Amino acid sequence: MKLFKDIDSLQLFVDDHRKKKLLIGFVPTMGALHEGHLSLVRKALESCDIVIASVFVNPTQFNNREDFEKYPLSPEKDCAMLAEAGCHGTFLPTEQQIYPDSYQAPEVPLGVLDQVLEGAFRPGHFQGVVEVVYRLFDLVRPDQAFFGLKDFQQLAVIRRMTREMKLPIEIVSCPTIRDNDGLAMSSRNQRLSSEERKMALSINESLTLAKQLSESYTPSDLKIYMEGFYQKSGLKLEYFEMIDPQTFEVLDSKWVPGTVACVAAYAGAIRLIDNQVVIP
Ligand code: AMP
Repeated sequence: MKLFKDIDSLQLFVDDHRKKKLLIGFVPTMGALHEGHLSLVRKALESCDIVIASVFVNPTQFNNREDFEKYPLSPEKDCAMLAEAGCHGTFLPTEQQIYPDSYQAPEVPLGVLDQVLEGAFRPGHFQGVVEVVYRLFDLVRPDQAFFGLKDFQQLAVIRRMTREMKLPIEIVSCPTIRDNDGLAMSSRNQRLSSEERKMALSINESLTLAKQLSESYTPSDLKIYMEGFYQKSGLKLEYFEMIDPQTFEVLDSKWVPGTVACVAAYAGAIRLIDNQVVIP
């Protein structure tokens, strides 16, 4: 696997393969990699000839300074894992390379996506995501880019940006990878104490329960039920919402096909998110 620390060598590599009419896949990450990230690389390898990953902890998408400062870093281990997974190249940019003084992020109207769930609780987060992913897309110019359903709303933001900016990139979604006990894998899990990690299992439990209870509860009654559930869990619930996956409307009295339950909760100081389809 090739490591790219400068833009020119990355682009030479990409251009070289593009000339040969090879399909380029791209997996952007913030590092501290786990099986969830590697599943994206493996999926990319199924449909693309060349797979490039990036590892960059993007400061502009953190609305909480401490979360940014404590974000786990393990670039050497990350590169070894990516190489082992069969990735062809990894881009490790600096902040200056991603955000040169001349860089102007596109204005992408996110509408309701920026007003509900993560958009509401993490002001500026999705603008930061758009900023970095647009820049990375511009540098790598992939044919396909791979994102996890673990960050369901982020995926919708990326699709929206790609559509609005008319980018010729296919966005491919990949299922959430969980530990054996059901906890969705996340780089932030590394920061959980063993007690917090145990408490965090309630998140997946609540989503499984939501699926069962959706037969007898309305979305708003289920939300009230979950607020009670979380009070007993030791976690601090930020939101538990049932949403229409097409419009991101928060559901109240009626279910729609494909309804997704989305949750954000704190285990101690660590903010975790997860989601699951509750209505087929
Ligand atoms: P991150 O490094 O957290 O910014 O994530 C990089 C990519 O990996 C994003 O597309 C995430 O949605 C995806 N990802 C993170 N965790 C998981 C997981 N447990 N399962 C599947 N994809 C994931």
